[in-house]
Amino acid sequence: KLPKIYFVTPTYPRREQMAELTRLGQTLMHVQNIVWIVADDSESCNPRLDTLLSNLGLPYIHLSSPMPFMYKSHKSIPRGVSNRRAALSWIKSNKITDGVLYFGDDDNTFDLRLFSEIRHTQKVSMFPVGLIGDYSISSPIIKNNKVVAFFDSWPAKRTWPVDMAGFAVNLGYLAKYPNATMPYKAGYEEDAFLKSIGLKINEIEPLALGCTEVYVWHTQTTKTKAPLIKVAKDTLKNSKS
Ligand code: UDP
Ligand code: MN
Repeated sequence: KLPKIYFVTPTYPRREQMAELTRLGQTLMHVQNIVWIVADDSESCNPRLDTLLSNLGLPYIHLSSPMPFMYKSHKSIPRGVSNRRAALSWIKSNKITDGVLYFGDDDNTFDLRLFSEIRHTQKVSMFPVGLIGDYSISSPIIKNNKVVAFFDSWPAKRTWPVDMAGFAVNLGYLAKYPNATMPYKAGYEEDAFLKSIGLKINEIEPLALGCTEVYVWHTQTTKTKAPLIKVAKDTLKNSKS
């Protein structure tokens, strides 16, 4: 039987939110045996988001996972952490030990081949992520079909200098690490999470044709600053003239 993919997507309210989730959701409609865990950085579950999710016809879990207020004033904000932690605790409390976990942000772009490969992850699989940092790619380095090192533009003394979208974890494997967690530490979330699940380099399963192909890209949508303030000012201006 085809192993199930638990695809965890952090999201947050802003004007691009519904567009991002429509695009991603319609990618996921092409994927068999997938559960979409959408964790919103919001105090409650937005009913419009719930309508979007139910209209896709995919099995989904809609979680409300607001970022604790204290982190919002940090120099470097830990984006998506409260969301992923909520998804991890949902998986744990529902005792899900079959299938594969993947963290896919709402603005990333996914080639469908990613899903057919990560689905068969036995422990932890890894693969390149496009459009990351100065080097434009973050990838494991492979020798004799084994991961031996990492190519990443921001090593930062991390043991696992990889992007959140660059790995998948088997849920039976994850269940052996009840203390698995992701800290509120911007830039070090992947490293700390992979340390918390006792990852060993010789156990990593390289995917995407020996890490020579890119099946996921860290795309980013341009943000417009305070559009509503501009509308308000323009309205004021127009009403005067
Ligand atoms: N995110 C969030 N709350 C925030 C900012 C971001 O939940 O205040 C989510 C966002 O939807 C995305 C993930 O966290 O899925 C990473 O954020 P973003 O894409 O802005 O970060 P970047 O890719 O630029 O590092
Ligand atoms: Mn992003």
